Amino acid sequence: MTKITPRPGIMDIALYQGGQASVEGVRDAVKLSSNENPFGPSEAAIEAFRRAAFELHRYPPTDHAALRNAIAETHGLDAERIICGVGSDEIIHFLCQCYAGQGDEVIHTEHGFAMYKISALASGAKPVEVPERERVTDVDAILAACTKRTKLVFVANPNNPTGTMIGAQEVVRLAEGLPKQAILVLDGAYAEYVDHYDGGAALVDARENVVMTRTFSKLYGLGGLRVGWGYGPQAIIDVLNRVRGPFNLSTAALATAEAAMRDRTWAEKCRADNARLRVWLAGALAEHGVPSDVSMANFILARFADAKEAEACDDYLKTQGLIVRRVGGYNLPNCLRITVGDEASCRRVAHAVGQFKGGAR
Ligand SMILES: *Cc1c(COP(=O)(O)O)cnc(C)c1O
Repeated sequence: MTKITPRPGIMDIALYQGGQASVEGVRDAVKLSSNENPFGPSEAAIEAFRRAAFELHRYPPTDHAALRNAIAETHGLDAERIICGVGSDEIIHFLCQCYAGQGDEVIHTEHGFAMYKISALASGAKPVEVPERERVTDVDAILAACTKRTKLVFVANPNNPTGTMIGAQEVVRLAEGLPKQAILVLDGAYAEYVDHYDGGAALVDARENVVMTRTFSKLYGLGGLRVGWGYGPQAIIDVLNRVRGPFNLSTAALATAEAAMRDRTWAEKCRADNARLRVWLAGALAEHGVPSDVSMANFILARFADAKEAEACDDYLKTQGLIVRRVGGYNLPNCLRITVGDEASCRRVAHAVGQFKGGAR
């Protein structure tokens, strides 16, 4: 008998379930289950990735200066306070690893992103789930849940899988109301899809207790590459950099993400197409008797009468080669999350939901 055991908390982690990618027996299934950009990355990004093939024998730079400068110039930020990671997942991980250990609490919301809980448990901290109000982040509930052990508060704005967001004043009220030892983490994975929204960057600049995370996985169409970044007060970024592996991002990842960030034409095209098709899809589903909250992201949370109907619709969509996401694991068993695809995919999914609701089961 060995006495080999992992640290407390590790065995409480439920493995992350990714979006399904294929349906048995169906060719050319349309994947609308992971909020990916249906148009893929910019041509410039693909070209940068190709060119990186000739540099694969070289170690990557450790300071990510070129990518941080591209991000800083695009968003009007201080490059010194940007940190890049293997997806924003890694930034979330760094935050938990550096600021939350045994005896500490990490707050996330009822329908919040699964990685907050996973990273909190991985660092030995206690995840604390706070209710939302009708699928919207509830600032009062979060403030009421804070204790002297609260170290991190994760809020995705807009949130996944609800697609809803809270306004700037509510975010300020949250940041101001947190206990002194707590950091507010604004997860801006979908910030690019919101008009006139900085993801919380100005609030980061104005305060000492706010960090913003962002990603190349959604608007930039680079989910497979794994690049994300964080922006925060100098003192916090300096702490995170101590645990960051010096070579956490590959040469290919750095060069490709930089090219993607600098191609504003492609980013703007993808943003505009998503905005147009999102409205169309929500309207078409509503006409078929499937309501949804107004989404600020690149997906729609379709609501059904109950879990049974949501699951039956999911099954029917699969027979039609359409893969969407069940969100029972996010306390939303009566809903399906549908990524806004290209125009043909949106039409197909709306048509199929209409057939399902019309009794084509
Ligand atoms: C998709 C998503 C991310 C992005 O994760 P990456 O590791 O950057 O791919 C982060 N937060 C939320 C809420 C997301 O939905």
